[in-house]
Amino acid sequence: MNKTIFEKIILREIPANIHFEDQDVIVIDDINPTAPIHLLIIPKKRIETLNDLTDDDTNLIGKLFQVAKEMAKKLNIDESGYRTIFNCNNDGGQTVYHIHLHLIGGRLLNWPPG
Ligand code: 5GP
Repeated sequence: MNKTIFEKIILREIPANIHFEDQDVIVIDDINPTAPIHLLIIPKKRIETLNDLTDDDTNLIGKLFQVAKEMAKKLNIDESGYRTIFNCNNDGGQTVYHIHLHLIGGRLLNWPPG
C-alpha cells in the first residue's frame, strides 16, 4: 500500500511544522490553514476513515481528543474556543485517507459549516 502524505511526514520524508509527537500521535500545522490556528492531530497508526475504526482503536481516538485539549491550552485558545473535526469520505470533505482530527481556532468560527 502506498504511504499516505501523513505517513511520509511521520517518517520525515516530507517536512511539516511539528508541535508534538509521541509513540501514538503526531501534531502538525495544516499546510492550508482555515484559521489562525489549524492543527492536524494524526494517529501514527494508519486508519483510512472513521468507518474503519475497531474496538481496539477506542483508546487511541480518546487520546486524539486529549491531545487536542492540551494543544488548545498550550496555544491559548482553550478559553476563547475552538472546533475539532473528523471529516469522513467524499461528502464529509475527506481528502487524506489516514484519519486526522482537525483543531481549528483563533477566530470566531461560523456555524453551521458549509
Ligand atoms: P481532510 O480534507 O482529509 O479532512 O484534511 C486533510 C488536510 O490535510 C487538509 O486540511 C490539507 O490542507 C492538509 N494537508 C494536505 N497535504 C498536506 C501536507 O503535505 N502537509 C500538511 N501539513 N498538511 C497537508
